[in-house]
Amino acid sequence: MEFKIGFIGLGIMGKPMAKNLIKAGFKLTVWNRTASKMKELIDMGAEGANSPKEVAEKSNVIITMLTDSPDVEEVILGPSGVIEGVKKGSIVIDMSTISPKVAKKIAKKLAEVGVEMLDAPVTGGEIGAINATLSIMVGGNYETFEKCLPIFQALGKRVTYMGPNGNGQITKLCNQIMCVMNLQGVCEGLILAAKAGLDLNKLLDVLTGGAANSWMLSNLGPKMIKGDMEPGFKIATQQKDLRLVLETAAELNVPLPGTAIVQQMFRVAEAEGLSEKGTQALIKAMEKLAGYKLTKE
Ligand code: NAP
Repeated sequence: MEFKIGFIGLGIMGKPMAKNLIKAGFKLTVWNRTASKMKELIDMGAEGANSPKEVAEKSNVIITMLTDSPDVEEVILGPSGVIEGVKKGSIVIDMSTISPKVAKKIAKKLAEVGVEMLDAPVTGGEIGAINATLSIMVGGNYETFEKCLPIFQALGKRVTYMGPNGNGQITKLCNQIMCVMNLQGVCEGLILAAKAGLDLNKLLDVLTGGAANSWMLSNLGPKMIKGDMEPGFKIATQQKDLRLVLETAAELNVPLPGTAIVQQMFRVAEAEGLSEKGTQALIKAMEKLAGYKLTKE
């Protein structure tokens, strides 16, 4: 299959991912709601479209990287959406993190018009999107997954088939449970160290070499110490994921006490006006509880 890729959603993640596809030699048509974000891609050789429908008309694989379930539904199934322009035999790959139930519903609607869908959410953060080192977890038809492997391999370093539609999204929700508790642990360790008067850079240096090391500690720890709260992953987006986690856990009657606490901790940060900051701003919620600041302003 000669790929003509359509890419919809050029945010923090989507833009570097689309760039990596161009760098890997794929032909791209792009669309973003805020049209100005398409410029960089067009400058690199992509074609700009006027709607998701036009992207679908010009492509045989359509990738979406949007915020939440209603956004993906609107862009794929809504007016001037992908479904209005898509050709039978094309493939839709949704790489956003959305509800597993909605992923299955969209896959069913697309199947009715002869289009396969894969749910293929990612982990690895903005840095993983930039460096094409994402881990990608895929749900859907196995043959379709195999066909799309060259695309996934241009975006990430680990690509795993997880089973039928929805399973990619469930895998991502499990990832989020592990990530946020890890992040809470990093914040708790850092605030204790700060109040005890330790040198935080030395703390990071020694702990990243041992059993406490993690993506969160090594990537977000330095940002917390520097007071750099710029988003690689926004708290608002993280809270969307935790909502999906807790909804899915409620459906399955699985208690997730730790995740629920971290969701409330992020709510403290939201109440402080930090929704659009990066998830490392969870340290601000810990600072409030501890009555102590990590960085002097
Ligand atoms: P982002 O920077 O906020 O980008 C969101 C993108 O979705 C933007 O292009 C936005 O368009 C578009 N969008 C949202 N609602 C839309 C709608 N109703 N119609 C059309 N376009 C719409 O978010 P992000 O960090 O790239 O995250 C994208 C997805 O990746 C999310 O599902 C997130 O959970 C997941 N994810 C993020 C990370 C991370 O570290 N950032 C890591 C793994 C997975 P505008 O430009 O017009 O706003």
